[in-house]
Amino acid sequence: MRRAALLTAVAVLATACGSGDTSTVIGRAENGKLTIGIRYDQPGLSQKRLDGRYVGFDVDVARYVANELGVKESGITFKEARGAVRESMLENHEADLIVATYSITDARKQKVDFAGPYFETGQGILVRFTEQSIQGPETLNDRKLCSVKGSTSAQKVKSDHAQGVRLVEYGQYSDCVIALMAGNVDAVTTDEVILAGFAAENPELLKLVGKPFSKERYGIGLPKGDTKSRDAVNKAIEKMVSSGEWKRALERNVGPSGYEIPQPPQITEKS
Ligand code: GLU
Repeated sequence: MRRAALLTAVAVLATACGSGDTSTVIGRAENGKLTIGIRYDQPGLSQKRLDGRYVGFDVDVARYVANELGVKESGITFKEARGAVRESMLENHEADLIVATYSITDARKQKVDFAGPYFETGQGILVRFTEQSIQGPETLNDRKLCSVKGSTSAQKVKSDHAQGVRLVEYGQYSDCVIALMAGNVDAVTTDEVILAGFAAENPELLKLVGKPFSKERYGIGLPKGDTKSRDAVNKAIEKMVSSGEWKRALERNVGPSGYEIPQPPQITEKS
């Protein structure tokens, strides 16, 4: 009798403390906790509001995936993951997952793994509403263009349009947008879905121009080599799409900006 009671007590304690293998993301999730890197300043996608709430499509994707891995909202710790630190946050175990408009690229895949993609967009250009001469990347000669350090957007400008354009790099897009409205730069470049969120906040001051000139496929970043966790995250993304929650989350968060909601992409990042 006593032995049985003791065994039960030990079992209860083990569950409470968690028994997951802490070397993997799914193991840590079994213990009821995950740290997820997100952006704090991207309207419609991922924002930390003044009242401390986290809102946006990426936030909803993060919450959905965490829940599928067994982690309730109260078990999630959100951390800011700016453009330049996303790989290092995973490499240094500062985050379990990164859900931060994070394009899947070969260069990044040297350092981290991706699940997904869960969304596709393309690079665009945001200008002041009164701007007449900037129509696309080829019309930016001698103009000041702002983007974010460590982003594919800044990288593309450097590799394809570096001759004429004067690139200014900041830590986050909201700072680029302030510089644009203040007249300190002439345009901001990054993914159109991000720019549409900023334009919607100031429709009489800002507008998008031209056609998208890259393909950006957003993945969920994971520590390199954690393939079981990647499989589990892919499964969660597939369920979010098939249940209709993916579309609803986009309509709720991105719909108000007027950005046209695309079809869900096929999952390509699997072992
Ligand atoms: N999706 C691109 C990237 O991962 C640009 C947007 C961003 O900086 O997050 O770099």
